[in-house]
Amino acid sequence: MKKHIMILGSGFAGMWAAVSAARLAYINGGDDINISVLAPHPELRVRPRFYENNVASLVSPLAPLFTALNIHFIQGNAKRIDNKTKNVWYSDAEGQLASASYDRLVLATGSNARQVTVPGADQYTFNIDQLESAHVFEKHLTGLANQTPTPARNTVVVCGGGFTGIELATELPSRLRELFGTETKTRVIVVERGDVIGGRYSEALRDVIEQASREIGIEWRLQADITAIDATGVTLSDGSHIASSTVVWTAGVQANALTEQFAAERDSVGRLYVDENLQIRGVSDVFATGDVAHAATDDVGNTALMSCQHAIQLGKFAGNNVAASILGLPPIPYRQVNYVTCLDLGSWGAVFTEGWDQKVQSVREEAKKIKIAITNELIYPPRAEREIAFAAADPLAKFV
Ligand SMILES: Cc1cc2nc3c(=O)[nH]c(=O)nc-3n(C[C@H](O)[C@H](O)[C@H](O)COP(=O)(O)OP(=O)(O)OC[C@H]3O[C@@H](n4cnc5c(N)ncnc54)[C@H](O)[C@@H]3O)c2cc1C
Repeated sequence: MKKHIMILGSGFAGMWAAVSAARLAYINGGDDINISVLAPHPELRVRPRFYENNVASLVSPLAPLFTALNIHFIQGNAKRIDNKTKNVWYSDAEGQLASASYDRLVLATGSNARQVTVPGADQYTFNIDQLESAHVFEKHLTGLANQTPTPARNTVVVCGGGFTGIELATELPSRLRELFGTETKTRVIVVERGDVIGGRYSEALRDVIEQASREIGIEWRLQADITAIDATGVTLSDGSHIASSTVVWTAGVQANALTEQFAAERDSVGRLYVDENLQIRGVSDVFATGDVAHAATDDVGNTALMSCQHAIQLGKFAGNNVAASILGLPPIPYRQVNYVTCLDLGSWGAVFTEGWDQKVQSVREEAKKIKIAITNELIYPPRAEREIAFAAADPLAKFV
């Protein structure tokens, strides 16, 4: 009887896990394995671009790829997993509860913004974490153009100065110029707990972020905690108030809640600890990949980040290894020694670094070209042709 691999999630990790499992099955005769992907939408949502305008366009359909590779797509939202009976319960496209059984499971349900506990945050903040919320933010921003110009209308507060906050903040001056015209004085303020700009990054990267912020007029409020948010703006821990109609929360991400359904150890952001083959430690027949997996990338102590860069490779290895476990083949231990950072800095350009010590390799227009090549091409699904898709899904093929 055919064995069934079920993959939950069609993001970077889930999509690549499916293609990689299909590849290994195909290379080895292909008849013993059925592969299904269960996700709410048959598309890849390109989350790393959600700070951009026109978010509705940032999705890539997966049906042609899955059809070409004989991967079955089930539209639904997984609700419960029982690894004893090997069943997943999900609400289907009509909202009805349905179930499906599996022989092997790959959890690839990604991450989402952590709930913010600051008073007023629920009602008065936006986020760009998911397509729907990024769309709500975009609609709000566009709508501001029809409002009476006031300092609050013309000011955006970005809460959190990590990568997402920086990419959004540096993108905003040009978006606001387009909306309000070049004559309007606008402000973009990043509120950050840390005492320096980009405190988690290398000194060289920090310097670039600081320079770009200065040149395009991003204001930073450092060592600042937000204590309350209301319709008039944000209040900081020092008692000061910033008048703003637009407060965007970018800090804090956690692994998808399905990770809680396994009796297994999780890290501080809810990711499941996996072994070198990406199987959940202590849980048979279940693999975790992408943002739900806490995985070592090398032998010197680095671990995968919640990043697209890691999710893509984690997906390829998980897919390969889940198929290998059925085919009786040796797994390929996950390794991803190279690490790069490419940070968009809006109209200033971008910055590209290499290595975990984040050595700056290029800046401004040169780095922007790399950023565009990554976010507009490299991270998109492969062409819906077997040979091309399988070549790209090989976990040992060159990536970055
Ligand atoms: C604004 C923003 C900017 C970013 N910038 C960068 C960047 O510059 N570089 C970088 O490397 N990374 C960046 N990231 C991070 C990157 O997007 C994530 O690390 C990446 O998307 C993780 O891939 P994934 O496949 O694990 O999860 P996701 O891409 O989140 O995919 C999860 C999938 O699971 C599905 N799913 C969720 N719940 C269920 C369920 N219950 N049942 C079935 N399916 C479910 C979802 O619909 C989706 O298909 C950014 C993220 C954001 C939000």
